[in-house]
Amino acid sequence: MDISYIINELGEERENYFNAVAPPIIQTSNFKVDTVDELRALFEDEYSGYLYSRGLNPTVEILRKKLAALDGAEDALVFNSGAAAIFAGVLANVKAGDHIVSVDKPYTWAQRMFDVILPRFGVTTSYIDGTKIENFERAILPNTTLIYLESPNSWDFKLQDLKAVAELARSENITTMIDNSYCTPLYQRPIALGIDIAMQTATKYIGGHSDTVGGVLCGSRAMMKKIFDSEFLNIGSGIQPFNAWLLIRGLRTLPARLERISATTRKVVDFLKRHPRVESLLFPLDETFPQYSLATEQMQGACGLVSFYVHAQTRAEVVRFCESLKHIMMAVSWGGHESLILPKCASLAPEQFDPAIREHRMLRLYTGLEDADYLIRDLEQAMLLAWGKLP
Ligand SMILES: *Cc1c(COP(=O)(O)O)cnc(C)c1O
Repeated sequence: MDISYIINELGEERENYFNAVAPPIIQTSNFKVDTVDELRALFEDEYSGYLYSRGLNPTVEILRKKLAALDGAEDALVFNSGAAAIFAGVLANVKAGDHIVSVDKPYTWAQRMFDVILPRFGVTTSYIDGTKIENFERAILPNTTLIYLESPNSWDFKLQDLKAVAELARSENITTMIDNSYCTPLYQRPIALGIDIAMQTATKYIGGHSDTVGGVLCGSRAMMKKIFDSEFLNIGSGIQPFNAWLLIRGLRTLPARLERISATTRKVVDFLKRHPRVESLLFPLDETFPQYSLATEQMQGACGLVSFYVHAQTRAEVVRFCESLKHIMMAVSWGGHESLILPKCASLAPEQFDPAIREHRMLRLYTGLEDADYLIRDLEQAMLLAWGKLP
């Protein structure tokens, strides 16, 4: 299916709403039925029609169809955050006594679920370095039911060989789930590589304007129905119609935004690589990236996130650099129109800062939709304010 068709037409039955080009926001909690039998059928299977907006809603339906098609999946569910999507996708695939194999340092709230919430219900997690397939083979136990991936990771961009992991998991009857937020289905198609559940936060690239929070799961119809019938309906974490509408609007420009951001990031990466204050950087599609060949094989592109290590002796230098940026804002998140900086040392107590530990000198930059030169000038002047003229 053409991406242009998916984004502009799929799921939109315009004749049902006055041929309006933009879809309506069906802001309703419930839907009326005409017969008792209809009602009975909906009670029996709420996934079959409109009953109540905690379940299905027509505006959300348009978004679901588009997102499933973009991922090449049979079906999709849309949640009111990426964290909610992770929670439901994981919870639906474990029970007391089960074991999860997860990549090291997954997204904060995935890790919180594995470390704090699931142990209360007798589900344990082993973390592994996912760059080697042998590590998965070794970590799998007889009670492993889920392999949790994040490729690339959103800080160090470590990758997993998705095809190899999917094959291994299939042979052991283990469900695989990936956080594909960094690439979006435009730049990586995990379902085609054999992964069972592709998750992405819609807050980042899908929304694209830093004005809404959302999350997506894609997979087989059976898997999505299983999650819908239990976690989705029970936690009540489905997306609201207005937010779904914002995400449909975001999708219209997704390819154009990703193309622009990729080109800008390339220029910013080249600037950072040449800057004497930058020790090294991490960007999956840069030739210096340790897993560059896997990245080029399995990803069709890379976007706005790049991490770099600065030469700094003190925390104050890193702070001065971040606080001297005039246009690039300091904030969490990414994927919007605005460029952002996030210093790793913000998660350390000031006295813990140790310049000998490279990670303490790490910064993550997100390049948004501004001009590359505008961003480069901002980085340049902040470097100058933080460290002065170079010898
Ligand atoms: C932001 C993010 C999430 C969570 O998404 P929310 O919509 O913020 O809940 C998950 N994974 C990654 C990699 C993220 O960056």
